[in-house]
Amino acid sequence: MTIYALHVPMKNKQEQSCTLAETNPLLRKENMNLIKKTIMLADRLCEVVNPIVVIHAGGLIQESETSGGVQIKKESFQNDLMELRKFIQERYPKIILAVENNPKVTEENKKELVFRYGYEDDIAQWVKELRDPNIGTVLDTCHAIGVINYNKQHYPRSEFVSIESYLDAYASTLKLIHLSNGINFVSKREEQGLPFLATNPEDITFVKGLFNFLNEIKYNHPITIETEEADYDKALNFVETRKTIVESFRR
Ligand SMILES: [Zn+2]
Repeated sequence: MTIYALHVPMKNKQEQSCTLAETNPLLRKENMNLIKKTIMLADRLCEVVNPIVVIHAGGLIQESETSGGVQIKKESFQNDLMELRKFIQERYPKIILAVENNPKVTEENKKELVFRYGYEDDIAQWVKELRDPNIGTVLDTCHAIGVINYNKQHYPRSEFVSIESYLDAYASTLKLIHLSNGINFVSKREEQGLPFLATNPEDITFVKGLFNFLNEIKYNHPITIETEEADYDKALNFVETRKTIVESFRR
């Protein structure tokens, strides 16, 4: 088994999401330290030329807040990435920092909270602006599906109502794909990490479309099949998604 990527832990010691652009200074320090530790570990464990460190974007600007809030988030998002860039430049120059897109809706205490930042092309755009070969994006298809479903219902005029729109926005910075299926708004654990089914024509079309696009842009980075499993030894959802990929090539 060749390790090619390491994911920053989902939560910090405070049991809060470990993300970029944290506004609480103490939490931010803790998050940045966790990310730096993951970079060190990736450098040690990964056996590829450019190990990828996956960082969750975060994003806690509620929809009701003004666009000024998004601007502040954008600045701290980019500042955090540049601080990490400096860290790798000095000691771990082969590491690629890759920021993962969020779902738009998060469930907290059984309530669905809607966020602005991190749901359409903002993350991709902010990363693109940095123009740094060691900083890129991870496109998680399941998170994208959640946003697409949300937009179809609430913002049908949004650009982001198909996976193609996501791929267009992410293409130039894309370093990793998390291939994963989701339902509804992907705000609950049971709505994410689902398999693509070889028996479902819609799933076949989705996977086929994705691979056609990646072929067009000559994508040469990894794809991780990301699934939740009842039994990780059997990994039935993973096996099913893999079967769907093979099937999609036959059509
Ligand atoms: Zn993911």
